[in-house]
Amino acid sequence: MIPAIRGTHDILPGEIEKWQLVERVARALCERYGYVEIRTPIIEREELFAKGTGETTDIVQKEMYAFTDKGGERVTLRPEATPSLVRAYVEHSLEQTLPATKIFTLGPMFRYERPQKGRYRQFHQFDVEVFGMNDPAVDAEVIDLAWSLIQALQIAQSELVLNSVGCANCRPRFQEALLAALGEDLPRLCQDCQRRAKTNPLRIYDCKVEADQPIIDRLPHSVDYLCEPCATHFAAVRAHLDGWGIPWKLSHRLVRGLDYYTRTTFEILGQTLGAQNALLGGGRYDGLVKDLGGPDRTGIGFAAGMERLVLALPEGVGVEPAPRAFVVGIGDDGRSEALKLLRELRQAGVAAQMEFEARGIRAQMKRADRLAARVTLIVGGDELARGDVTLRDMRTGEQQSIARGEVVPATARLLSGT
Ligand code: AMP
Repeated sequence: MIPAIRGTHDILPGEIEKWQLVERVARALCERYGYVEIRTPIIEREELFAKGTGETTDIVQKEMYAFTDKGGERVTLRPEATPSLVRAYVEHSLEQTLPATKIFTLGPMFRYERPQKGRYRQFHQFDVEVFGMNDPAVDAEVIDLAWSLIQALQIAQSELVLNSVGCANCRPRFQEALLAALGEDLPRLCQDCQRRAKTNPLRIYDCKVEADQPIIDRLPHSVDYLCEPCATHFAAVRAHLDGWGIPWKLSHRLVRGLDYYTRTTFEILGQTLGAQNALLGGGRYDGLVKDLGGPDRTGIGFAAGMERLVLALPEGVGVEPAPRAFVVGIGDDGRSEALKLLRELRQAGVAAQMEFEARGIRAQMKRADRLAARVTLIVGGDELARGDVTLRDMRTGEQQSIARGEVVPATARLLSGT
């Protein structure tokens, strides 16, 4: 046996229903909020993420599945969707072709991380992006969409956290204050933080090392260093959320792991998930489109981890099997009529199954039980002679004879609960 690669996983029946539910809910919400789907390649030029995600990020420095292809080109499996969506937006001038650039995508991402519960090397994201819209109401709409997703999935114990990391104008002042406040404590922080202090000091807030926490807790807060436009923007985002009754908490440490964020950042945390508790995260990235060679357009979005959404679903959600019919044929003639009925049921949109090998009625009924059939339709010699079919309601055990011509609509009615 050749096992699956560490950090990857198969999604099997029993679990796949939950994935389908999450995907269905995500797509339906996107439709309601006016987001259109696009799908981009899983493989991209390495440079797209070096530039987009950022040279100094852990993702680019340590986690990319990057390699030289047979043509000598440096390529990588995508570690996140945003740079790819920006690339597609620019490459196809989507600004001109779409009525509003509000897009979403669903698919696998790849990061060479240490696998644990809720963290994998191939994982899946539901990703939403809006380009070219600056109003704080857009930030609030994106957060509302994220919040509505969690509500629609009935994930109860979750918390929305919010921050603003400012812009190119005010961030330098905050970084200076941060380094000044660190002062003599800097050498006492972990090696990663020492490196972060040089390359991207904000990232120090991401540090999870226990011993560093008391020092980090004393550091200044980005919201106290916002310039006037950033402060006004952030106040408006919060006012919208308050007005809509969406509960949020300010989190000074929410700077997020990627380089491109400006102004609003947010995450939704799931309290049942353990260490990897971020269900989704996102924010504004007003310089990224231009940095990647596009027009000077703002952007905002979020990515939700599908595995984590599935893990956080309440017990019993998405495991209900689809109601099905099972057709039992007895004897050669019965079997041949049963096969005909099976096809008619499927054509009428009913999920229906049958035992293909010629077996006795008991074996066939047992199979119907295993498949959790809601209804069994029995066609034997007696039924053929009378021109009807025996319909057995598997929940109540009740049986009735139904005229052959009526059996398909009667079964469809029963399965749809009318
Ligand atoms: P990020 O792109 O790092 O902001 O991540 C956005 C979301 O993707 C997170 O909130 C997680 O839900 C999910 N995610 C990120 N990395 C992983 C991973 N290695 N395994 C599973 N889910 C992940």
